[in-house]
Amino acid sequence: MKKILVTGGSGFLGSHLCDRLISRGDDVLCVDNFFTGSKQNVKHLLTHPNFELMRHDVTFPLYVEVNQIFNLACPASPVHYQHDPVQTTKTSVHGAINMLGLAKRVGARILQASTSEVYGDPEVHPQPESYWGKVNPIGIRSCYDEGKRCAETLFFDYHRQHNLDIKVVRIFNTYGPRMHPNDGRVVSNFIVQALQGRDITIYGDGSQTRSFCYVDDLIEAFLKMMETEHGFTGPVNIGNPCEFSMLQLAELVLKHTQSKSKLIFNPLPSDDPKQRKPDISLAQQKLDWIPKVSLEDGLKETISYFKKILPTI
Ligand code: NAD
Ligand code: UDP
Ligand code: UDP
Repeated sequence: MKKILVTGGSGFLGSHLCDRLISRGDDVLCVDNFFTGSKQNVKHLLTHPNFELMRHDVTFPLYVEVNQIFNLACPASPVHYQHDPVQTTKTSVHGAINMLGLAKRVGARILQASTSEVYGDPEVHPQPESYWGKVNPIGIRSCYDEGKRCAETLFFDYHRQHNLDIKVVRIFNTYGPRMHPNDGRVVSNFIVQALQGRDITIYGDGSQTRSFCYVDDLIEAFLKMMETEHGFTGPVNIGNPCEFSMLQLAELVLKHTQSKSKLIFNPLPSDDPKQRKPDISLAQQKLDWIPKVSLEDGLKETISYFKKILPTI
């Protein structure tokens, strides 16, 4: 039985990953400081004999014995990562150093949850892994973007310098059940606003684009990437290449919630990328993976999740 560490394991993506690992019979150690994650997300796993939950901040050293590490710890929503930007950089950078030091000591394979934000506000569209990005080093998104870029640097230096077995995945906007209702990212914001009959907050004119991946597709790619042969490090883009403007997303959410909410237009936050769409040919070739869930189907699942939890929050 493999002993697998998932940092950020009680967050949105981490909790789905823990579910999949437990269901295939692995022994899972979930580490989280509950900054944006919640015990609620893994409550159903707490009594499982192969699951262990530890409150711990990855900016501090961690001494445990494991065979594999999925490093997901880091707030992902702009609202939350900008709340304490110094802590965000520390989480990405010190967290990566600690988890790489741990992987080095125990000889574990380690996967980094990186991000499409390493491409910044891209001038190349769609974005292939070979594109180096256009990132502002001193803006309000930099704590996240540059923190994640530095984490990638650390992963590749530990690989080159210490022959560490690394895997780097660049995740594009992913959504689904267990996003926190106050997460602040666009899909959960629009759905919660629509269900509560509140105005839908479009930032800017809504013409900016994102490509939305459903959580189940993403977790499938994570597991495939972790099992690739030694030597394939990535980085590899994981996301759904179907691109939508925020206005189109709002229309889909209104349609599937049958909501009468009105659209309102708020200022566009600074450095907000204008367009984003993954080139996933490397994932197709190396992982034999393409996303299966359409935005409409994924939205329906996510809407029914929020319908269930909203009265109780
Ligand atoms: P999330 O905020 O739900 O999960 C992050 C988890 O990390 C939370 O449980 C949080 O409490 C925990 N955490 C934060 N700082 C920590 C620290 N110092 N020590 C221990 N735990 C800490 O977000 P998510 O969407 O599940 O994102 C998971 C990972 O995937 C993040 O690294 C994020 O950058 C990356 N990612 C996600 C997306 C996406 O669209 N969902 C896109 C790109 C990258
Ligand atoms: N570390 C950890 N757990 C371990 C081994 C290391 O958290 O099991 C941390 C430790 O704090 C160290 C960091 O990882 O500072 C980097 O470790 P590495 O061995 O690369 O460097 P060094 O120990 O020389 O700083
Ligand atoms: N956005 C929006 N309304 C919201 C939240 C976000 O129009 O209530 C926009 C935001 O400006 C960005 C896009 O939706 O252009 C995606 O934002 P999100 O925070 O989900 O992710 P990211 O910008 O990190 O891709």
